[in-house]
Amino acid sequence: MGYLMKSSITVLPFLILAVLAGACSANSVAAVDGAGDGKLNVVATTGMIGDLAINIGGDYVEVTSLMGSGVDPHLYKATAGDVRALEQADIIFYNGLHLEAGMSGVLERMSDQRPTTAVTKSIDPSVLSAPPEFAGAYDPHVWFDVSLWKQAAEVVRDSLIELDPAHSSEYQVNASSYLEELDELDNYVREQIQRIPEERRVLVTAHDAFNYFGQAYGIEVAGLQGISTATEAGTADVQDLASLIVERQIPAIFIESSVPQRNIEAVQAAVEARGFDVRIGGELFSDAMGNPGTPEGTYPGMVRHNVDTIVSALTQE
Ligand SMILES: [Zn+2]
Repeated sequence: MGYLMKSSITVLPFLILAVLAGACSANSVAAVDGAGDGKLNVVATTGMIGDLAINIGGDYVEVTSLMGSGVDPHLYKATAGDVRALEQADIIFYNGLHLEAGMSGVLERMSDQRPTTAVTKSIDPSVLSAPPEFAGAYDPHVWFDVSLWKQAAEVVRDSLIELDPAHSSEYQVNASSYLEELDELDNYVREQIQRIPEERRVLVTAHDAFNYFGQAYGIEVAGLQGISTATEAGTADVQDLASLIVERQIPAIFIESSVPQRNIEAVQAAVEARGFDVRIGGELFSDAMGNPGTPEGTYPGMVRHNVDTIVSALTQE
């Protein structure tokens, strides 16, 4: 009921504005609201970006996230349904930094037709890492440094305001409270990681998604596969990682929800073959959030889940 009321109130001024504005570019409010429900039709690639739009857009957006739980964004290709959703979007948000490598063609095409924004665009390149094995490109996994993800939130806020200035103050208020939540989250992660004995602060996962996390919160990271899952891990990689684990006596390693479990199990087997036992410490949500409606189905929830899982596994005797 409350929702219907709100819609009817927002639609009228919008229609008047649209008529007055006449023919405008795709960036203007006249092009907004293809669905006719008074809400902006926002399409995000990953769930983490969708979560930004849901929190900041609030009652004025309808958000579609193309990549659900368990989906690997490095390998994901747009379906016919995705292309339709993108074509009907008032605005498209994507990560950028080559995260959505399989979608680069369709995103580029869309950018000619719809406002299409990389949420990482305002992050200073000097804070980005460009690992040599990633062929000169930047590591795209910025969402695991919460302070960097705050900059992504600001990009979403500013883009919504530009597209729909009539609701500027609502977007501002929503963004402020979300940014505050992210500040608390940032502090939480930092405090929790400190609980791990210093010599055990090593995070071994299926692929290199946690470099920014490690830099921000003071934990060493090692991934079996590189920055992108597009390159398969070789036997030598498995053996190298197994050596590191035995040498450092690392008690637990982690699987990722969007990467096949067998990869990290191969490392566990190689460690066992050297006479050391390493536990699977749990499942981390690296490149995709959990199912909608679960705590891990939101960005703050996924980060908390990861930190709690890591800390619990690495502090256990
Ligand atoms: Zn990744």
